[in-house]
Amino acid sequence: MNAPTPLHDADTLAFYDREAGVYAARTRGEPVRLRAFLEQLRPRAAILELGCGGGQDAELMSAAGFEVTATDGSAGLAAEAEARLGRPVRVMRFEELEDVAAYDAVWANACLLHVPEDGLADVLARIHRALKPGGRFYAGFKSGDGGDRDSLGRYYNFPSEERLRAAYAAAGAWEPLDVTTGQGGGFDGVQRTWLHVLAVKGA
Ligand code: SAM
Repeated sequence: MNAPTPLHDADTLAFYDREAGVYAARTRGEPVRLRAFLEQLRPRAAILELGCGGGQDAELMSAAGFEVTATDGSAGLAAEAEARLGRPVRVMRFEELEDVAAYDAVWANACLLHVPEDGLADVLARIHRALKPGGRFYAGFKSGDGGDRDSLGRYYNFPSEERLRAAYAAAGAWEPLDVTTGQGGGFDGVQRTWLHVLAVKGA
């Protein structure tokens, strides 16, 4: 098992490539959080989706009339999302994001939790830069006491709320930065406490 590089974990991306078909076909819960997020956006807002997986969320956002740019670091899952959406999905790792003030919103459901701890502030700063002022950004993390792997070999940063807030603060100004907790499962079948972060880009 390789150690994660500062900005991504190759074993985790290899897992998603290997399991892309099964992962993209899995049953997901009701997208309550996504619907609430979309309600706060203007019609046809430009949304960047990071770690889009099989493309289910991008499909919902597109059907609701938003301008969605779907991306994923796994070529296998990007291909699954392309098949679902019927349009190209960029293979892009988080650390490759270079856009500046391009999006009204960034949707990053259950994916930034794979960024190595030491690289999280850098990735968050890229997202901050990619957002327009006042842009909204959601990401969900599995909470814990630091980086580790699950039983499937995937790396997770497992932050405490305090460490997560520090990483966001280091990335730029957010007003507000709301963190809520909830219970939830995952592909490994383990129930954990999640940290749901809704951040608005400040001046
Ligand atoms: N957001 C999707 C969903 O909610 O169904 C997928 C969530 S899945 C737990 C994590 C996703 O993050 C996978 O699609 C994986 O390929 C992607 N991912 C993991 N590491 C990444 C990285 N460094 N850059 C971009 N995507 C990455």
